[in-house]
Amino acid sequence: MPVVQYRGMNLVVPENESEFLGYFEAARQHKLVMKKCTACDLIRYPPGAGCPWCQSLEWTWQEVSGKGTIYTYEIIVHSIQPGFRDITPLPVIVVELDEQRGVPTPQEGVRLIANLVDAQFQPEQEANVAIGKRVQVVFQDLSEDFTLPQFQLSNESPQGAVWQFPS
Ligand SMILES: [Zn+2]
Repeated sequence: MPVVQYRGMNLVVPENESEFLGYFEAARQHKLVMKKCTACDLIRYPPGAGCPWCQSLEWTWQEVSGKGTIYTYEIIVHSIQPGFRDITPLPVIVVELDEQRGVPTPQEGVRLIANLVDAQFQPEQEANVAIGKRVQVVFQDLSEDFTLPQFQLSNESPQGAVWQFPS
């Protein structure tokens, strides 16, 4: 997979990267995939080598809806990474996917850290970010060969209360 530039940084997924190569190959096709254990059928993220619940090393890629809820978030106001300096403040969210919510225990779910962007792939405004809001995956094509999964607010109504950090 070739190197691509993103905000002045080189992004590269090596050909022997078994953890994330399939994830980014699917992203190129505008699909969001998770590793699914073929022994207990649970999906996991990040895509580690073994199943965190049954320790099986057997797995397959499983496409997911890319729909979820903001589980928590933070607003980055001081960027350590120079490439992000000119777009602060920017939100970073933890998305809880709709798939496997409350499984295998009520406290668990499939959660991933993501950027929350607007329709132009710029950081979503802080005033619009809240725990409980609905989001969906979108795919930002950085080049012919490299696509980044990102998240945007969806037009679905929250299923419960929403909560924002006091400003
Ligand atoms: Zn398993």
